[in-house]
Amino acid sequence: MDTLVSLSKRRGFVFQSSEIYGGTGSCWDYGPLGVELKNNIKRVWWRDFVQGRPDMVGIDASILMHPTVWKASGHLDHFTDPMVDCRECKLRFRADHVDELPWTHYCPATKGNKFTIPAREPCGHCGARRTLCPDCGKGELTAPRQFNLMFKTFMGPVEEDASVTYLRPETAQAMFVNFDNVLQSMRLKLPFGIAQAGRSFRNEITPGNFIFRTREFEQMEIEYFVNPHDTIEGRPADEYWHDRWIEDCLAWFRRYGLREENLRLREHGKDELSHYSKRTVDIDYRFPIGWSELMGIANRTDFDLKQHSKFSGKSLTYFDEERKEHVVPYVVEPAAGVDRALLAFLADAYVEEEVRGEKRVVLRLHPELAPIKVAVLPLLKKREEIVKTAHGIRADLAKYWRVVYDDTAAIGRLYRRQDEVGTPYCVTVDVQTVGDQAKGEVGDGKVTIRDRDSMEQIRVPLTALGSVFRELLSGGAWASVAGRFERKGEG
Ligand code: ATP
Repeated sequence: MDTLVSLSKRRGFVFQSSEIYGGTGSCWDYGPLGVELKNNIKRVWWRDFVQGRPDMVGIDASILMHPTVWKASGHLDHFTDPMVDCRECKLRFRADHVDELPWTHYCPATKGNKFTIPAREPCGHCGARRTLCPDCGKGELTAPRQFNLMFKTFMGPVEEDASVTYLRPETAQAMFVNFDNVLQSMRLKLPFGIAQAGRSFRNEITPGNFIFRTREFEQMEIEYFVNPHDTIEGRPADEYWHDRWIEDCLAWFRRYGLREENLRLREHGKDELSHYSKRTVDIDYRFPIGWSELMGIANRTDFDLKQHSKFSGKSLTYFDEERKEHVVPYVVEPAAGVDRALLAFLADAYVEEEVRGEKRVVLRLHPELAPIKVAVLPLLKKREEIVKTAHGIRADLAKYWRVVYDDTAAIGRLYRRQDEVGTPYCVTVDVQTVGDQAKGEVGDGKVTIRDRDSMEQIRVPLTALGSVFRELLSGGAWASVAGRFERKGEG
């Protein structure tokens, strides 16, 4: 994790928020490369799950919603963690986590000597168990109090109870409250889904682990509505679609580079299910901190639509033409975190290897996710013709992709810089490309393309660059493209 945090800072992926003021607890800013990576993740998610599917539409709702939304959804009553405070040092703990911590003990059997005792174990000298604050070992802990994770704020100029509202802790509720608007305006037939990507806020008691758990983060959520009376392949439609979405989401993460051995499914036990859920399955990823949730896929039944109907007094049903009846759809919710996905893609892509006796750091990011697609590098920055051609190539390719020009170091160094940020291809312009006018030589009009992963190089005519990159950057394999051009040694 430390390696990723330092690479992220050094190369402009993620910075500590408000760093010059000492940083803001658990808030992070995405830098020039981070924002590209994050946008690419959201873009391919939207393309694959919304744009490409006839049964999906999207929305972009406001973060501040009517406060009753959170009463109806259960967030006001249930979105809480139990907290205890130390009366002495004032540290705050999650009540259900206190026993998981090693504890400080001043042992009476050894004249008050201080010991740190492993979690859940008694003192080896006096046999006492922990009753006081695990950290300072002196203060009593308060009785557990429920702490709501929603950020409270006021709507309008008067700070009074009537104007209290909340920053949304998930994007999902906007899809439920807009269910009828979307259904009517788009004339949809079940099953269909509504997607949204946007910010959510949770006043987490123990944020941390870089961008894994923060208080402000982005989610990509889908609410997929199905008719509970339908059966598909002999199974209730909601159960069928739940499994379909689990498979599709898992396949999506694999498609963009997460390795099979770093992914697993985790079924929620009955005691751990949320109040609305019939069944929830998490996709876990083997993060640098260990196996943890990357996304969750829940069968929320008709809980949300029924609750919002009850609290708003509006009917939130679907008219089933075949059966001539109104039904409250069931909903399957694939809910992913953008920041966690970004962390997983970074962690999975990071490789250190030895090349010709030197360490090479390479981010093997999927080309569609890579922040920079192509770097154009002049071999000699003093040759005007070379530099001009390189700038021209950058400008042409930049109409379609994020492409950069760099001449601030020798070519080997420039390649390593691009490897480290995951740029899949470099284009080099050299004397051969433009020729040497002084000697009366004309150039061959070809440039070198270097592949990040294999480090292989090919010579490609300038006129073919656009079509070659269209092929490579839309999933074309390097080997099949490279086979059609003249080879050069590794770069
Ligand atoms: P956790 O158990 O890790 O707190 P959760 O089960 O509460 O997560 P959901 O409510 O299912 O999370 O939210 C869906 C997704 O949103 C999560 O799988 C995760 O990717 C992301 N997410 C949730 N909370 C945070 C957070 N505090 N920081 C970053 N991402 C988050």
